[in-house]
Amino acid sequence: MPSTPANEIPIEEPRVDVPKVRRCLRCETTFHSQWAGERICPRCKSSNTWRNGSPLGSGASGAGN
Ligand SMILES: [Zn+2]
Repeated sequence: MPSTPANEIPIEEPRVDVPKVRRCLRCETTFHSQWAGERICPRCKSSNTWRNGSPLGSGASGAGN
């Protein structure tokens, strides 16, 4: 009879959204998004570039030149 480990760590799963393969908006690479709103691959997320403004970075910052 298998005993349940006390240190059983529950995996963080989305409530409604399910992980699916999406295409990154930045590098257009396919990656497994954790949720429906996740459209930036972990690789790009590592870079703080996308945090600067819009993920697309259309240059609509309206700053400087
Ligand atoms: Zn990317």
